[in-house]
Amino acid sequence: MTIRRSGLTLAAMPALLCALATAQQPLHTDTTAGSVPEVYKPTPSFDLTSIDKSANPCDDFYKFACGHFAANHPIPADQGATNSFYSLANVETQELRGILEKAEVNGSGRSPNEQKIGDYYHACMDEAGINQKGLTPIEPLLKRIDSMSTEQLPAIVGDMQRMGISVFFSYGEQQDFKDATKQIAEIDQGGLGMPEKDFYLRTGPKDVELRKDYVAFVTKILTLSGASPSEAATQADAIMALETSLAKASMGVTERRDPEKVYHLVPVATVADVFPEGVYSKFETAVHSPHVTELNDTNPAYLPAMIKIVSATDLPTLKAYLRFHLISAFSGNLPKPYDEATFDFYSRDLRGVKVQQARWKRCSSAVNHSIGEALGQVYVKQYFAGDSKAKMLQMVGDIEHAMGQDIDQLDWMSPETKVKAHVKLAGIANKIGYPDHWRDYSALSVKPEDAVGNAMRADEFENDRELNKIGKPVDHGEWGMTPPTVNAYYDPSMNDINFPAGILQPNFYDPKVDDAVNYGHIGAVIGHELTHGFDDEGKKFDAKGNLRDWWTPEDTRKFTAKTDCLVNEYSNFTVAGDQHVNGKLTLGENTADNGGLLLAYMAYMERAKKDNIDPSQKLDGYTQPQQFYIAWAQNWCANDRPESVRTQVLTDPHSPDKFRSNGPIVNQPAFASAFSCKSGSPMVPAKSCRVW
Ligand SMILES: [Zn+2]
Repeated sequence: MTIRRSGLTLAAMPALLCALATAQQPLHTDTTAGSVPEVYKPTPSFDLTSIDKSANPCDDFYKFACGHFAANHPIPADQGATNSFYSLANVETQELRGILEKAEVNGSGRSPNEQKIGDYYHACMDEAGINQKGLTPIEPLLKRIDSMSTEQLPAIVGDMQRMGISVFFSYGEQQDFKDATKQIAEIDQGGLGMPEKDFYLRTGPKDVELRKDYVAFVTKILTLSGASPSEAATQADAIMALETSLAKASMGVTERRDPEKVYHLVPVATVADVFPEGVYSKFETAVHSPHVTELNDTNPAYLPAMIKIVSATDLPTLKAYLRFHLISAFSGNLPKPYDEATFDFYSRDLRGVKVQQARWKRCSSAVNHSIGEALGQVYVKQYFAGDSKAKMLQMVGDIEHAMGQDIDQLDWMSPETKVKAHVKLAGIANKIGYPDHWRDYSALSVKPEDAVGNAMRADEFENDRELNKIGKPVDHGEWGMTPPTVNAYYDPSMNDINFPAGILQPNFYDPKVDDAVNYGHIGAVIGHELTHGFDDEGKKFDAKGNLRDWWTPEDTRKFTAKTDCLVNEYSNFTVAGDQHVNGKLTLGENTADNGGLLLAYMAYMERAKKDNIDPSQKLDGYTQPQQFYIAWAQNWCANDRPESVRTQVLTDPHSPDKFRSNGPIVNQPAFASAFSCKSGSPMVPAKSCRVW
């Protein structure tokens, strides 16, 4: 949790948590079907083929707007789900492939960045070379682990964390929650191979099965790397016991949403003293941290428990744990059997994916993940139309204006708090497309035949870049997502909203369609990110990005009653039979979806007035407001595998797609008149929720 950001969807950083997935009744869906397409196309901006005219929009708007989507869009065998985020991401990965295949061709004409992205891709694509090398690229570190004494453990943990492998705990940099001008170190829980704490502790049959799958996966990795089957099985059980103890000492995903609960600024000695003497400074040196005087100990109960657990674990188990995590982390660039074992657990067991993605897709994503601003520079030149930035700025302006009006109209907020809410709104910075200043990769060495080495050096480069920020002034131009990313985020410490070039493409933004459709798509996305500044987390940060209460207690009380309404509404939604949405975990995102849709609608109606557009004017038989709401719902048309939905509901702060569509719809006053729905119909209930 280096930086707390509220993305539109979960960033697909670790393969196990790709949360663009959604819930959907498995009606006419054959989830085993779906070959992998050769060529990708985005979903149409206004998708008439998904509309089910036999469904009554007042009864179930998702069924009306998306009813035919699943039948028309079988889930490709290499995905856990499909929706418009996946479709656009596939189109862009295809575009990245074109850029990378060109950059891959060795020639003196390449710029330094083209050399890096081309050679990174080339090495990653060289499956034959990768298979032939076996474990050789990680052999030096494996040998150090195998021969390690307890005294050498802290340096090895530091070296591995520098490669992005958070064994036992994690360490990084963040803006100080209470002084956003400062960048500080943070130490956090970590060390788990399954998605989060409760995967180790829940007792249902699916959970027990997944734990068996995980132990089988660990056993497989250890066997492949040289342990005898019985030795590997014993070690895997011991690793499971070790991680279960770490999980018990960890905070859960819902609790971690509260910034107060994960902020404990302490002198570094407070943390160092928890470790046996001398251990902390060895770790600090190995991880390449500057020496700090204070840091955020996110979960103060965790470190003492972790030290106790590690001290009570025998050395062979600690070695097996490190060995497993090292191999698992680099498995994508190791011989096929390692890669397949990792796929089997993280993609097949956790998300129901049937086949591994094509190598070109994974390598294109890997370049984007590792050196994304080098790749992004070429990407925006080729694919980011200049005029989309101007149009985006106009829409952002319209929606911020709507937020200002919305604040003025609230009947529950005191004038005092309203003044401060306006200050916060005015303080939000808008970032669109790509950074003004690109990241400098000149110190990073990328070689054409060294897939593992490239990944390691890129991770180390990124670790060092992050930790180097400690003690320095904040760079407000920095981006937390790469330009080709199909996503968006709000960062409470920066107080900025960010829209990468990747999401400013059809179907989210399309210069060829009516404003009504664009405001329902990207307009609501803008409203979503803006509302994050004022959701249950965002409200705790002020205009300057500091965790500081600017609300009167009475206004907070009224706000909480309103968000409780959303918690109840969403907790009643069920997926995959009887699994309930976690209303508390998803509260921030649900607040943002509800506020975002309302603000986008207000902004659209103003825009239509300014541009003399008659709202009753029809396209394909739908009025402008109807087009707006259909576009909104179609942001979330989805088809997904049950495993994928299950993992999403357990880990993801975003609600399943169907509820991202209908949850806010039932709370929109203008929806009923747009579709002439009678009050009391399922989409216009007598009681609804409204925060913003
Ligand atoms: Zn969000």
